[in-house]
Amino acid sequence: MITNRRHRVVVVGGGFAGLQAVRGLRRDPVDVTLIDRQNYTLFQPLVYQVATGGLSAAEIAMPLRAILKRQDNARVLLADVVGFDLDRRDVLVEHLANGGGPSRVPYDTLVVAGGSRYSYFGHDEWQQHAPELKSLGGALDIRDRVLAAFEAAEVETDPAKRRAWLTFVIVGGGPTGVEMAGQIAELARNALRRDFRSADTGSARVLLVEAGPRLLPAFPESLSRKAARSLEQLGATPLVAHTVVDVAADSVAMQRQDGSVEHVEAQTAVWAAGVTASSLAAELAAESGADVDRAGRLMVRPDLTVPGYPDVLALGDMVQVEGARLPGLAPVAMQQGRYAARAIRARLSGREPEPFHYLDKGNLATIGRSKAVADIKGLHLAGFLAWAIWLFVHLFYLIGFQNRLLVVLRWTISFVTRGRGARLIVQRRSTGDTRVPWVTRGVRGIAQRVENGTRVSP
Ligand SMILES: Cc1cc2nc3c(=O)[nH]c(=O)nc-3n(C[C@H](O)[C@H](O)[C@H](O)COP(=O)(O)OP(=O)(O)OC[C@H]3O[C@@H](n4cnc5c(N)ncnc54)[C@H](O)[C@@H]3O)c2cc1C
Repeated sequence: MITNRRHRVVVVGGGFAGLQAVRGLRRDPVDVTLIDRQNYTLFQPLVYQVATGGLSAAEIAMPLRAILKRQDNARVLLADVVGFDLDRRDVLVEHLANGGGPSRVPYDTLVVAGGSRYSYFGHDEWQQHAPELKSLGGALDIRDRVLAAFEAAEVETDPAKRRAWLTFVIVGGGPTGVEMAGQIAELARNALRRDFRSADTGSARVLLVEAGPRLLPAFPESLSRKAARSLEQLGATPLVAHTVVDVAADSVAMQRQDGSVEHVEAQTAVWAAGVTASSLAAELAAESGADVDRAGRLMVRPDLTVPGYPDVLALGDMVQVEGARLPGLAPVAMQQGRYAARAIRARLSGREPEPFHYLDKGNLATIGRSKAVADIKGLHLAGFLAWAIWLFVHLFYLIGFQNRLLVVLRWTISFVTRGRGARLIVQRRSTGDTRVPWVTRGVRGIAQRVENGTRVSP
C-alpha cells in the first residue's frame, strides 16, 4: 500500500539523550512525538545547587514546548509511558493531561531514553528520611529540610538535639555527594553564619559517607585525595569505607570495615548513592527478551538498537552498549541522542549506520567555591582552573540563553557576597502542615514544649 504519511518517530524522555535525538531530526522529513511525564527538561548536574539554595528551580529546567516551539516537525505529549507493544509498534501511555485513560501512540521508529533513578539497595523505606537528589521535587524537598534544620537548631535548647539538627549526612561519595557535601558546608559556614542568633551554623557537621575506599571512584586516585582534602577545608568530613546500614528519622547507622556499627544522630540525610535504570529498561527487556545488567540497564547493540528490533533504539542512562562500559554521564547521553538522529536518517536513506562511538572529553566534579577536580584526557587538574573549566562547561550545556544569563548573574552575586539567593522553605506552610512529616515532627515538638511552658530560645 502506498501512503503519503511521513515516517513517525516517537521519542520517550526529554532528558539529555531524548532531546538531542529530537533536535537532531529537526531538518528531516519525519514527524517526531516527544513523550515525557515532565513538561520540562532538567539540567541534573546543577540540581544540587537548587537543593542548597544557590539557584532557583526555573534556572535549571526548561519547558520542552519552549525548546521545540520552532521545530515544526516535533510535538510534545505530556504523559507517563507505561509499556511498549513492539510487535504492533505502539507506545502505551497513561495519565494524559486531560485525565484520559491508557492510550497507544503508534511509531515507525521508537527511541527510548528514560534515564535512571536512585536505588536504595532494597530499602525503599529509607527514602522518606533520605530523599534523593535527582528530580526537581527531590531537590526542593532537600532544600526545605536543610533550611528547616537550621531553623530548628535556632530554637532548640537541648545541646544534643541541637547538634542533631546541625548534623547532615550525605550518602554516596560520587560527584553528586561531593558537590552536595561541599555546598552544605559552605552554606553553614558562610551564607548562614550571620543570619542566626542562637544556632552556631558554623559548627554544623557535614558527613559524606562512602562505602568504597575513596571518594570519586571514577576519578584518578590523586584527584580523589585532593577532593577529600578540599572538602575537609570547607568543613565537611568524608567517611570512606563506611556502609550505611539504616536510615531512620533522626539517625543514620553506618558500618565500618571492622564490622562495628556507628549510629549518628542526624535530622537530615540526603541520598546520592546507587543508580538504577529507569523501569522502562525492564519494560523493553520484557517485551524484546533482551538482557539487563546488574544496574537494570538494557543491553543494546553497538548501533543502540534493541536486539531483534532494528526500529527500536534505547539510549542514555538506562542502557549499556554491548562490548562497551560507558559511564552514566550527560555527554554519553547527548552523544547517543545525536547518534540516534543520524542513525534514523541513515536508515531512511537506505544506509546502515556505523556503530556508536563515545568520544570521552573528560570528567569534572566541583566541591565548592574555587574548588573542583578535572580529569581531561589524562590531564589531572584541581583547584581554581578545574573550577573555571567546570563553570564554563556547565554554562555551555545549560539550555536556554535566559537561563545562562540568570545563572551567571546568580553565581557572580554568590561569589562576591558568599550568599545564596534561593533560600526558601516552601513546603512548611504553617504550623502543623502535614506535608513534610520530618518538619512537622520538629514543629509539633516545639509547639508541645511551648504548651508545656518550656521556654523556647531565643
Ligand atoms: C544530581 C545529578 C548530578 C549529575 N551531574 C552530572 C555531571 O556533573 N556531569 C555529567 O556528565 N552527568 C551528570 N549527571 C548524570 C546525567 O545527568 C545523566 O547521565 C543524564 O541525565 C542521562 O540522560 P538521559 O537522557 O539518559 O536521562 P535523563 O536526563 O534523566 O532524562 C530522562 C527523561 O525521561 C523521562 N521519563 C522517565 N521515565 C518516563 C516515563 N515512564 N514516561 C515518560 N517520561 C519518562 C524523565 O522525565 C526525563 O525527562 C548527574 C546526575 C544527577 C542525578
